[in-house]
Amino acid sequence: MGGSFKISRAFGIEIKVHWTFFLLLIFFAFLGFQESGNVLGGVITATVVVALFVCVLLHEFGHALVAQRLGIEVPDITLLPIGGLARLKNLPEKPWDEVKIAIAGPLVNIVLAPVFFILAYLLGANLLAPPDLLSGLESLGQVLAYLGYINIALALFNLLPAFPMDGGRVLRGLLATRFGVVRATDISSSVGQFFAIAFFLFGLLSGQIILALIAVFIFFGASGEAQMVRQRELMRGLSVSDVMGTKPRTETVTPYHNFGQVLDSVLHGYQEDFPVVDEGGNLLGIVTRNEILAAAHSPDRYATVRDLMKTEVPTISPDADLFTDGYRILQESGLRALPVVQNGELVGMLTTDDVGQASLLRDLRKQQY
Ligand SMILES: [Zn+2]
Repeated sequence: MGGSFKISRAFGIEIKVHWTFFLLLIFFAFLGFQESGNVLGGVITATVVVALFVCVLLHEFGHALVAQRLGIEVPDITLLPIGGLARLKNLPEKPWDEVKIAIAGPLVNIVLAPVFFILAYLLGANLLAPPDLLSGLESLGQVLAYLGYINIALALFNLLPAFPMDGGRVLRGLLATRFGVVRATDISSSVGQFFAIAFFLFGLLSGQIILALIAVFIFFGASGEAQMVRQRELMRGLSVSDVMGTKPRTETVTPYHNFGQVLDSVLHGYQEDFPVVDEGGNLLGIVTRNEILAAAHSPDRYATVRDLMKTEVPTISPDADLFTDGYRILQESGLRALPVVQNGELVGMLTTDDVGQASLLRDLRKQQY
């Protein structure tokens, strides 16, 4: 996620923090300072917030380590003011795997809660006192009791069936064993959006802005993932070469083409992005329609394609899987076309339109076999 930076690494997973998390820390440090009237009070309250987020981090590691065991790569975990996010390289294919991964996070909190309560009890804390973030200003025992309550709250909140939150993933996994993954995702996603609207209204009316923010994430997360699952099913079993535009039908340019020539191609042709190749057909980079049109405002600054082309371009092999590689790289790079390269040589282009047409190809195949 943009604006995040790495703070550590464990089990091969990068731990990142989003910069807005520090705003949250400063805010709570200020609250502690205001309440206690001294700087130490601010430091203590900020420390309690950090401890709370360590619990969130352990929750995410619950998901991540189970996912790893099931053979899914987890590149990173990011901490945001609204919670943590363990990023899975791909979604689990088997419904029960999804249930196991989803439930592992809240389970961590369910294990942590009694640990905190016992420690708090041993330190003589009043376990029945209402949990309060500023309890650190009273005693260490009271902080531990607070963390115990927070872990119970984390487990319960995450287990609500508000897809894509953990409880919603459990629901989707269970439904998928019966209805298949597409329908299960559609149902869970509708339930998730219903919860999101309820959270949003409740958050606004009760002044809990963080809850309202979480609701926005749930709402768009639910529809985004429903869309992604549908795409995955449409592209299942297809490789890049099944849908890509092949070399003879792809217009290429050399670094020595002048700016006017590529502008002409954009204005009068159908192709929007042009691979740049050398005499041997090896890929050197790409020029995109956006850059060409932007540069058209000051054409004198760009003599040739060389001045305009992008050289750091993701490429893909024709044998790569269309969904897990082609679609994902297109999405992540924000490009509309990816050069398809074999042994350094350009063999075609994969565009977002090609990906969109994958569903047609699938229907055709069904008729053939
Ligand atoms: Zn979770």
